[in-house]
Amino acid sequence: MKTTVKSIKIFSLLRLLQNFSCEPKVRCNNNLRFKGKTGLLDGFSKACYKTNRVLQQALFSLLFFSFYSLSALTLDDTLNALSPISPNVSAQFRWDPLMQDGVFNMGDNYGVFSAATVEGETGFLLINNSEVFNTPLPYNNNGSLFFPEAFVETLKTAFTQVFENAAANTIASDETRFRVTTIIIDAGHGGRDPGAISKHSINSKNTEITEKDIVLKTALSLRDLLRQTYPEKKILMTRDTDIYYTLEQRADMANAVNVKDNEAVIFISIHANWGANANARGYEVWHITSSHRRTLLSSDHNYSPDITAILNAMLEEEYTTESIILADSILRGLNQELGSSVPSRGRKANDWFVVRNSRMPAVLVELGFVSNRQDAVLMTSGEGLQKLTRALYNGIKNFIDIFEQ
Ligand SMILES: [Zn+2]
Repeated sequence: MKTTVKSIKIFSLLRLLQNFSCEPKVRCNNNLRFKGKTGLLDGFSKACYKTNRVLQQALFSLLFFSFYSLSALTLDDTLNALSPISPNVSAQFRWDPLMQDGVFNMGDNYGVFSAATVEGETGFLLINNSEVFNTPLPYNNNGSLFFPEAFVETLKTAFTQVFENAAANTIASDETRFRVTTIIIDAGHGGRDPGAISKHSINSKNTEITEKDIVLKTALSLRDLLRQTYPEKKILMTRDTDIYYTLEQRADMANAVNVKDNEAVIFISIHANWGANANARGYEVWHITSSHRRTLLSSDHNYSPDITAILNAMLEEEYTTESIILADSILRGLNQELGSSVPSRGRKANDWFVVRNSRMPAVLVELGFVSNRQDAVLMTSGEGLQKLTRALYNGIKNFIDIFEQ
């Protein structure tokens, strides 16, 4: 059974449509702004000039569309929708009310998400540490969770695929060797958040350089290089298109990756710098100081507070040491690729948010300054981006070589 959720949006749309008038053109244009449906409503502005009959039909279809698009399933219906995937494995759901995180399980397979803070919000659905889907997120309505139809469809398709692959794949894995299983590449900013922007005259052309675009290009090429070398590792991206995620969502995604005791995840966030002084240039790599790390052990272990504190301190120490080794390895990679003509600003430590909340060795790389002309030339040329990508790749590869030997 499908449950249709009537939301406040529907009522405000109804009210808006009641006010709808054919007479002044300006009014049609100004009043009919409705988030996410601008295209349809542009159509409505034109309908203003048609007959009332056409108008009524159009209003009716818009209302129908709105009800349909906001339909969502209850938890029970969602679990029922998953049950046909495998006759032997039942679907289960765990909900963390504090973190507002949910996990769907079918056997060893799972899909993790963070609930929407507002209805209609999209975000990630992480399947088995290996695939990230962007989908409308489940949301809380009067204390009950609702699962948008598109979300349930995505989950169903992903789980179906996983079961099919598992049936085809019988390769045994080495369970004891210590290894990096997952690399998360975070391209900074995105969507409505462009990051740093500057304009320069490059090859006598006025060129605008935007951080979100440079870092996405670099991240995508880095992913491809890493996937070629490490087909057995999971190479995830927090975003692979021009899309906006909050820092909390990026950290949630990183922390949603599940690893065994002998496995590790590394997290690398890619950014570009900006300085008020146009002469400031060069690359730098940040890691987190241990004092800024939050409680790393999750509360579902029943350790006493003292033991938790000690274990946390040990984990902090380990993550910090690994983060420093990773940062230095990437700095060496950059120095080898770019030579001494591009200055290294070195390794730096700070309480940077994404890294702070990630339970893994993590670094943030500033590729260069968009505000500096020479750096901008490097970061906008194909050859320059290739060098930067190779530098990051070599840095990560060297770290893995050390870690896994
Ligand atoms: Zn940035």
